[in-house]
Amino acid sequence: MGSTGSIGTQSLEVIKSLGRRVIALTGNRNTSLMERQAREFMPAVVAMYDEKAAEDLRARLRDTGIRVVSGMEGLIEAAAIKETGTVITAVVGMIGLRPTMAAIREGKRIALANKETLVCAGSLVMDAAEKYGAEILPVDSEHSAIFQCLTGSPREVKRLILTASGGPFRGKSAEELGHVTKSDALRHPNWSMGAKITIDSATMMNKGLELIEAMHLFNVEPEQIRILVHPQSIVHSAVEYVDNSIIAQMGAPDMKIPIQLALTWPNREMSTAPELDFTKLGGLTFEEPDLKVFRCLELAIRVAKEGGLLKTVMNAANEQAVSLFLQDKISFNGIYECVAGAVSGYKNNPNPGIDEILETDREVRQFLIEN
Ligand code: NAD
Ligand code: MG
Repeated sequence: MGSTGSIGTQSLEVIKSLGRRVIALTGNRNTSLMERQAREFMPAVVAMYDEKAAEDLRARLRDTGIRVVSGMEGLIEAAAIKETGTVITAVVGMIGLRPTMAAIREGKRIALANKETLVCAGSLVMDAAEKYGAEILPVDSEHSAIFQCLTGSPREVKRLILTASGGPFRGKSAEELGHVTKSDALRHPNWSMGAKITIDSATMMNKGLELIEAMHLFNVEPEQIRILVHPQSIVHSAVEYVDNSIIAQMGAPDMKIPIQLALTWPNREMSTAPELDFTKLGGLTFEEPDLKVFRCLELAIRVAKEGGLLKTVMNAANEQAVSLFLQDKISFNGIYECVAGAVSGYKNNPNPGIDEILETDREVRQFLIEN
């Protein structure tokens, strides 16, 4: 799901090198790339969220026999299709929630990149996965690292160490962040990713979303997670045990490694990702994140502790604010102001159901568009 994006295209490279089959692909509007992917991988079904794009793609693929579906119903159909064993959720944003739930209800393995879904509905997603026997394997590099470093019993774990690159603005002052531009924010030092997560890395909201993602995936409290800035992105995260031993996972910063592991686990296969040569590494450094400068991260840590519906409010406001920033409608610091404003205006509900989550998501976005 989201095969035309950054994780999606890298997933298809991995699938090709593993010699696996693709049964369904989903996208939004990029019909020319989807046509190429469909012709190469020959899935049974392709879903385009956008109706017009689906119509265009149907005409383009007329000679192939591939069925083209559209809208949320189309995404859900593709996610739940009987023949697949694994669904890679690489759509960006809360839009992935209903298709992910549909795949879970079919008991499929979920290779999960779509962190916004876990941020908003982590408890519902994890409970459903347990109920339907669906394995959730993290694709996010930090969570894949923690997953690999977790051994033994949960009571032996002292804390999770979640590393962060610090993004393009590491070391800047709050004053300097008032003058950064969109192209500055889109220039991530270590990773090439979709626009939304690249901006989230610049505000460090990404690390806040990942903190919440980790709480749900590994069933830990926010107090048990330490965020450390590690600008080289070589140590992808770590687990500290009660005997003060730390197990960390390392590798080149290449998403093909965690994507592939989510497909092959509990086995490992040869990868096309580069090797890591310790003698060429230079230094590995670690520092505390500056919560006074990266206020989105400070806010997300507070929201993580509060929990409940407030996580949906924060996520929705952030998705909408990042979209406004990418359209040049608000400044970089405006992102924090939008999200903090939305969070402070809402009364929390500790245990929202799926309908309330979806409705609140819509409401918050609408509010930001109108104001
Ligand atoms: P991207 O913007 O490159 O791709 C997003 C994909 O989602 C595209 O295929 C797009 O067509 C699809 N999409 C967008 N809106 C849609 C809609 N309304 N309906 C259906 N499909 C829609 O994003 P990305 O960088 O690949 O990130 C995808 C997810 O993976 C995000 O949740 C992100 O946080 C997470 N993630 C990404 C990386 C990375 O390296 N890119 C790393 C870790 C986690
Ligand atoms: Mg990550």
